[in-house]
Amino acid sequence: MEIMPGVHQFKLPIPSATLADAGEMVGETNVYLIQGKDGWLLLDAGWDDPRNLKILEEGLDAIGVNFKDISKIVITHFHYDHFGMAAKLKKLSGAALVLHRKESAFIEAMGGKARQTLRETNSWLLRNGTPEKELPDISFATDLGRPDILFSGGERIPTGLFDLEVVWTPGHSPGHICLYEREKKLLFSGDHMLQDITPEVGTSPLQYDNPLADYLSCLKNLRELEVDLVLPAHGPAFTHFQRRTDELIEHHQTRKTHILEILQSGTMNAYEIAARMHWIPQAGGIAWDKLDSLNRRLALLETWAHLRLLQEEGKVRTITKNGCLYYSLQIEG
Ligand SMILES: [Zn+2]
Ligand SMILES: [Zn+2]
Repeated sequence: MEIMPGVHQFKLPIPSATLADAGEMVGETNVYLIQGKDGWLLLDAGWDDPRNLKILEEGLDAIGVNFKDISKIVITHFHYDHFGMAAKLKKLSGAALVLHRKESAFIEAMGGKARQTLRETNSWLLRNGTPEKELPDISFATDLGRPDILFSGGERIPTGLFDLEVVWTPGHSPGHICLYEREKKLLFSGDHMLQDITPEVGTSPLQYDNPLADYLSCLKNLRELEVDLVLPAHGPAFTHFQRRTDELIEHHQTRKTHILEILQSGTMNAYEIAARMHWIPQAGGIAWDKLDSLNRRLALLETWAHLRLLQEEGKVRTITKNGCLYYSLQIEG
C-alpha cells in the first residue's frame, strides 16, 4: 500500500501470538519501503517466515522494485518481529544493515549467546518472585546477521527524496530508533508510539537501568516535534501525535499511582504486585490469572520498570530476603 508518494507499507504477519512482540497482542508488523534516488530504504524486516518473504517479494514486484534496489535496511529495534528477516533480506539485496549500537549486544544475546541469556533471564525472574514452573525455555539461536552501520542517534539519512533524521528513543528497547522527516512532518515511530496499543517498557532487565525514565523523557522531548502523520510499526497510521503522547505519559502515571496503592498493604515482590493488577489495556484489562506465562513475564518486567522509576523518585525502597527482591513504600521523614 502506498501511504503517500514514495512511502510504501507492507503488513507482515507475526505467525505465533505466544511469541509475538512484547505482549502487544499484535498480528502484524508494518514494514516501510521509502523511495530514494540511489537506492530505496527498507525500515524493519518483519518476522522470519517464508510467507512474509513472499508478501515482500510480491509487494516489491507490484511497484516495480527489485530487492537489489534496496540500499539500506534500517531496523527500529532488535525485537524479532522487526529484525527476524534482516539477515535474509540483506543477502537478497546486498543492502547495508543499519541499527542503533545499543541493539547490537542484544542481537548477540539472542543469537550466539542465547543459552547464557536464558540462564540470566531465569535467575532474574526467580529473584523477582516468578514461580519455577513459569520460567521460559525458548530461545532464538538463528543466524541473525551482522549490522554494517551502527547509529547513535542524530544521524541523517538522505535518500534524495526524504531527509530522514535518526532519533534515539530508548524505553521499549535500549537502542530503539524513530525516523523523523522534518520537512514532511512525518514520524516513523517503530514501537515507541502506537495508536491503540501501549508499548511495553521494561524488556531488558539484565542490561538496562531505568527504561521507564528513558521512555518518558523521550516522549516528552519528542512532543516538541512538529508531526502531521505518525507511521507506527503496528496498527494504523495516525495524526494526533501530541494527544497520543499525553495519553501514554498519563497511562504510566496512573500505573505508578496504582502500584503505590498496592504497596500500602505491605512489602511485596514485583511478581506479587503484578499479580494484583490488570494487564493489556488495549484488550480492556486482563486479570492476572487469565494471562499465559509469557504475558505474565511481560507484566512482571513492566511492573519492575515502574518500581525502578518509583525507587529512583524516592517513593519505594528495596529489601533483599532469601535472595529475592522485595519492595515497600518509602516512609517519609
Ligand atoms: Zn513490535
Ligand atoms: Zn518491540
